[in-house]
Amino acid sequence: MKASRDVVSSRPDLFTGALNVSRIRDDFPILKRKVHGKPLIYLDNAATAQKPQQVVDALVRFYSEYNSNIHRGVHLLSSEATEAFEEARAKVKRFVNAREISEIIFVRGATEAINLVAQSYGRQHVRAGDEIVISAMEHHSNIVPWQILCEEKGARLRVVPINDRGEFLMEEYEKLLNSRTRLVSVAHVSNALGSILPVAEIIDAAHRRNVPVLIDGAQAAPHMRLDVQLLDCDFYALSGHKLFGPTGVGILYGKWDLLDEMPPYQGGGDMISSVTFERTIYNTLPFKFEAGTPHIAGGIGLGAAIDYLNGVGLENIAAYEQELLGYATDSLSAIPRVRIIGTAREKASLVSFTVDGVHPHDIGTVLDQEGIAIRTGHHCAQPVMDRFRIPATARASFAFYNTREEIGALLRGVHKVIELFN
Ligand code: PMP
Repeated sequence: MKASRDVVSSRPDLFTGALNVSRIRDDFPILKRKVHGKPLIYLDNAATAQKPQQVVDALVRFYSEYNSNIHRGVHLLSSEATEAFEEARAKVKRFVNAREISEIIFVRGATEAINLVAQSYGRQHVRAGDEIVISAMEHHSNIVPWQILCEEKGARLRVVPINDRGEFLMEEYEKLLNSRTRLVSVAHVSNALGSILPVAEIIDAAHRRNVPVLIDGAQAAPHMRLDVQLLDCDFYALSGHKLFGPTGVGILYGKWDLLDEMPPYQGGGDMISSVTFERTIYNTLPFKFEAGTPHIAGGIGLGAAIDYLNGVGLENIAAYEQELLGYATDSLSAIPRVRIIGTAREKASLVSFTVDGVHPHDIGTVLDQEGIAIRTGHHCAQPVMDRFRIPATARASFAFYNTREEIGALLRGVHKVIELFN
């Protein structure tokens, strides 16, 4: 086994710097499967990432060895499950470099994290005539919760425009900030364009006016090292399933002082310290925001995913993925009729593109027959499609287990699309 691995890993496309991609691929059982008789080439990582065996094993171990409800049990299984769940919270705390473990709230995903802030912080602080600032390249989950809030409160949503490359316009943003601004909420990385937003500057400009900032990190967390203290963001949202962990679990990070003053988002078990019909006293952080039985296995699985990512190294991942992105961008843009949508100078590892005269769904269908999984559509970012006056794009998004060879197959697939739709 070792010998054959060494043979494979001596190939330049599979061994890059500190990353042994062939060994990494062995950890992801799904990458061995076939699709339409061809080896799976999974380039839909921005939608959801595949799970290493270590994450699958953590889930199996939980359900087969110590499945139990947490926090209130006196029996051994319950204390084992509680310990594992809280250990996972500690792993997340270290992963994002939060100051306090109680600043880490388990939620269903980035969507729920944003809704939590909108419904709790937002309802508490936003009044008629106030403004909330987002960018023109937000996922629907960072648009609609604010629209719901604005409608309820008579507040106004302000949108920072982007240029033709898909870059955030800092000057326009500064013009939009004013005494009515109550919150800024922007993506760290755009899921439709791949643009990395200048979040440190965005946060700094808002803080100069005492405006808190939520960063939607759903697309950033898998690709770069995070440090919420360094960023000084007030809230940070992420999804476990994009981070090689299970679906149905995610994280809201919030600064302790803000979270402490916010009212609960949902009521139920675990979020209280005492209940009578006359009066309920809420639990301390983070439990105040975790009503009901959480996704225990999911949290533990996310902890295992973080262990795995730490083992591979976020810096190694970022460097390798930038190589993949450069190769894919250069070779796709060299193909006639291909137009790349989103050419920001700072990008994470995804390429959105169109082929002149071909509907993106047809691109996706042809590639699927080749075993290549990409995403086509509006990517839950319809305003971005409107901005570029297109109905949809094809999007290839890369993870650290992808290879140059797989991108080569994508390029051959795109040539095939062009021949078929000549
Ligand atoms: N924000 C961004 C930028 C995303 O890409 C996504 C998922 N596509 C979300 C938020 C929502 O994440 P989830 O569906 O996991 O809640």
